[in-house]
Amino acid sequence: MNNYQKINPKTPQNITQRKAYLIGGGIASLSAAAYLIKDAHMPGENIHILEQLDVSGGSMDGAGSAEAGYTARGGREIEAHF
Ligand SMILES: Cc1cc2nc3c(=O)[nH]c(=O)nc-3n(C[C@H](O)[C@H](O)[C@H](O)COP(=O)(O)OP(=O)(O)OC[C@H]3O[C@@H](n4cnc5c(N)ncnc54)[C@H](O)[C@@H]3O)c2cc1C
Repeated sequence: MNNYQKINPKTPQNITQRKAYLIGGGIASLSAAAYLIKDAHMPGENIHILEQLDVSGGSMDGAGSAEAGYTARGGREIEAHF
């Protein structure tokens, strides 16, 4: 458990000069961006997520706040036990 968190890959050459363009603002792009930052050490400002819709999040879009609670389209399984 938690072995992945202990892995810190070598920083690729010129990573701060490279840019990533991810198509779609769904969880796939968001997770790719997170791994680019964590594993490839790419600065977050070099990562661009291009979404065609006004709503971000793709099929897992949601809205709300910690105070008011959250909603998601499509009746997602977001109850506490998930
Ligand atoms: C009704 C429903 C209920 C679900 N319930 C659950 C659940 O309870 N639990 C669970 O784990 N999963 C659930 N899923 C599955 C989960 O939502 C998807 O597997 C996941 O969100 C897919 O993520 P993705 O990033 O691959 O794609 P998507 O979320 O589809 O994101 C792709 C994004 O790319 C954008 N896009 C596409 N083409 C272009 C383009 N050319 N230019 C710019 N933007 C573009 C789209 O607008 C979209 O925002 C559910 C799915 C649905 C539809």
